[in-house]
Amino acid sequence: MTAADAQERQEFTFQAEIKQLLHLLSHSLYQSRDIALRELISNASDALDKMRFVSLTDDSQRECGTLEIAIVPDEAERRLTIRDTGVGMTRDELVANLGTIAHSGSGEFLKSLSAEDRAKADVSLIGQFGVGFYSAFMVADQVRVRTRSYRDEHGWEWASDGTGRFTVEPVEGPLPRGTEIILHLKEDAKDFASPYHIKDVVRRYSSFVPHPIKLGADGEVINDQKPIWVEPKRQVTEEQYDRFYQHLSHHPDEKPLWHLHASVDSPIQFHAVLYCPPSNLERYGFPRLEHGVSLCAKRVLVQNDCRELLPDYLRFLFGLVDSEDLPLNVSRETLQDNTVIRRIRGSLLKSVFDRIDQLAKDQPEAFQTFTEQFGTLLKEGAIVDAPQRDRLAKLIRFASSQKADGRLDVSLDDYVARMPEGQKRIYFLGGPDLAAIEKNPNLEVFRKRKIEVLYLTEPIDEFVTNALGSYDGKLLTSIDSDDLDLPEAADEESKVETPEEKAEPGFARVLELFREAVGTRVREVRESKRLTDSPCCLVNADGGLSTQMQRILKMANKDVPEMSRILEINPKAPLIRRLGRLAANAEHDAFIKECGLQLWSNALILEGVTPDARELVSRIQTFMDEAADKRSPLIVM
Ligand code: ADP
Ligand code: MG
Repeated sequence: MTAADAQERQEFTFQAEIKQLLHLLSHSLYQSRDIALRELISNASDALDKMRFVSLTDDSQRECGTLEIAIVPDEAERRLTIRDTGVGMTRDELVANLGTIAHSGSGEFLKSLSAEDRAKADVSLIGQFGVGFYSAFMVADQVRVRTRSYRDEHGWEWASDGTGRFTVEPVEGPLPRGTEIILHLKEDAKDFASPYHIKDVVRRYSSFVPHPIKLGADGEVINDQKPIWVEPKRQVTEEQYDRFYQHLSHHPDEKPLWHLHASVDSPIQFHAVLYCPPSNLERYGFPRLEHGVSLCAKRVLVQNDCRELLPDYLRFLFGLVDSEDLPLNVSRETLQDNTVIRRIRGSLLKSVFDRIDQLAKDQPEAFQTFTEQFGTLLKEGAIVDAPQRDRLAKLIRFASSQKADGRLDVSLDDYVARMPEGQKRIYFLGGPDLAAIEKNPNLEVFRKRKIEVLYLTEPIDEFVTNALGSYDGKLLTSIDSDDLDLPEAADEESKVETPEEKAEPGFARVLELFREAVGTRVREVRESKRLTDSPCCLVNADGGLSTQMQRILKMANKDVPEMSRILEINPKAPLIRRLGRLAANAEHDAFIKECGLQLWSNALILEGVTPDARELVSRIQTFMDEAADKRSPLIVM
């Protein structure tokens, strides 16, 4: 572009996704239109934050004048003007920000809308996707943006009717620094020029904007601007906290699940208000959450979405941290090595953990929701954050054999408190889901002896138990490992066995035949002490990976070393006792061996693994033939 072009009026076409977005917005619900005002005020406020920052860090901009927002309605002309004295935009910024840049937000926003939302044209989340400006077209059929950047002597005007194109041209004559958005209101949106309506919307959505919002010719200030984070906690009402949440989240009617208000004096002075949203969008297929904590120094915004304030796994929290001890000119690059930030982070982390503890104690239901929505993120923390691992281990919850419904509400401390005398380990079992876990034959001895087993129903769970290794001095042990170290069961063992419970004398021979049949498919075939009903199970030797872990790693295409496993046979199971009797006669050897192979296959199938299908089918076919033949023998002619 030459200097000459830049002085002329130019026409541009909106990027395709923005066109789609505009179409949707112009057909949006009447009720959701208040969003438009909220988004434009939010942009004005952002521009003022930036200007304040510039004035404090750039000597040439020290005299920056009043930083404020003016809303000027004109009912007769059906016009609404929103003006700010913020940073303004250069010509290039205007073109890029309002129309041509491939805003990733617009595509994501469109994708996030369900069919139902589209039908209802529910666009209430628009501000979260960084495309809030376009909501102007919900209420206006003609939008003009007049702006002058603090770095520019000339002003520029952007104009569009929101169909497909926009124009940018230089403004004649002087223009004050900042931006002015002029909305020509649609016929059915004319109440946006009513002072009463504007006050109402500002009160509901924008009361926390930290700059004065002045209304009309007389310039009445219509917002609160109170920074609640510097107030003493007991002076802030729940409603104020909720409002501030709605202001930060761009979410008009949502309430946070919980909030945390911290005021710390030493070693570093800071105030913080953090919120936990009611649901975790990551769980619903949204992209990974981004950090949403703003960093302020002496009430001036230094940086949005500051990742240095909290570890990655707490990315679902958002809010604001404000410190007196931080210089304004701290740059993005130096934040990481900044000792003030490091100390704030340490202290904040502790406050967050304490707050979650408190939630668990005081509001079990909210805590349950929290666990369902964000528990996996805390588990992620327990895996990656070694220094905080023990602390996080107290906050995470699992399903357990003690609870029929599979709810994730048993803590490791609960488990340890319930452990009977003599139990030295914490037992767990992983599986693809609750139903699969409950069918696992390895559970039998635990059920019989009433020993609690944690059910690891979430794929991440077993990474956590692996990372922890032990808890409170107790080894975390998968119940499909060969070494269980179960507590002595004095009464059970000494009990005289009834004849039905006795192993058949032929059992040793059955084991021998099984060993021959299964061969090197397993490391060992041996008598089981853990089974009560099922004929057999597979266990993992030498503290190797649990079955579930092997499954997960295989799914993730990781190289899993072929594990040598142990096939355990229950001498008391009716089938095994029958085979024991048959073993007295060598003519049944072949049949017993086939049964051994089939039992091994069955154990694998229960784990969700299919062994060699052809072999398996042909064996079952033979068994069926024999069973059918017994009922009705074919007469051989
Ligand atoms: P977001 O505010 O999330 O970035 P918007 O669609 O609301 O998304 O605004 C797009 C961009 O346009 C902003 O990032 C900003 O650069 C610019 N912008 C919008 N309004 C103003 C304003 N009043 N003053 C200066 N820049 C603005
Ligand atoms: Mg915005």
